[in-house]
Amino acid sequence: MATNGKHVKGMANERYEELKRMLGDRRREIMSEVHEKIRDVRTESGHGKMSEVFDQGESSEADIQEDIEFALIQMKAETLTRINEAISRLEEGAYGYCFECGEDIAPQRLRALPFAVRCKDCEQARENAIQRERLQSQRSSSLFFDISG
Ligand SMILES: [Zn+2]
Repeated sequence: MATNGKHVKGMANERYEELKRMLGDRRREIMSEVHEKIRDVRTESGHGKMSEVFDQGESSEADIQEDIEFALIQMKAETLTRINEAISRLEEGAYGYCFECGEDIAPQRLRALPFAVRCKDCEQARENAIQRERLQSQRSSSLFFDISG
């Protein structure tokens, strides 16, 4: 990775504060969602145990619901980990810079995509390249079908 000195200085400080606030907000949001979900699952599994005694069918339905809830919690927990990583990268002055060209990634873009590693231009260029590749492979596979058919 290219190192062009410390980023946090003067104007960059304002950006740092903005990104820090943005990541902190996101973290709080997800944490409260996780806590809410955990509370829900606890309440529901309480009901699950109750109905297990009376009705087997109902309890297995509750189990499926529980699995889904746990998967959701797990997903959110992973997002939380990534946000924590982003916050420590931010503190090191390594967050919010394009992986390709090293330019600042626009704060609006980071608000929508906190884990973006490329600026809009580089992302667009990459998407175009992927699309070209896909078109090329489509063309070669249809060529393949022409030969075989
Ligand atoms: Zn870039």
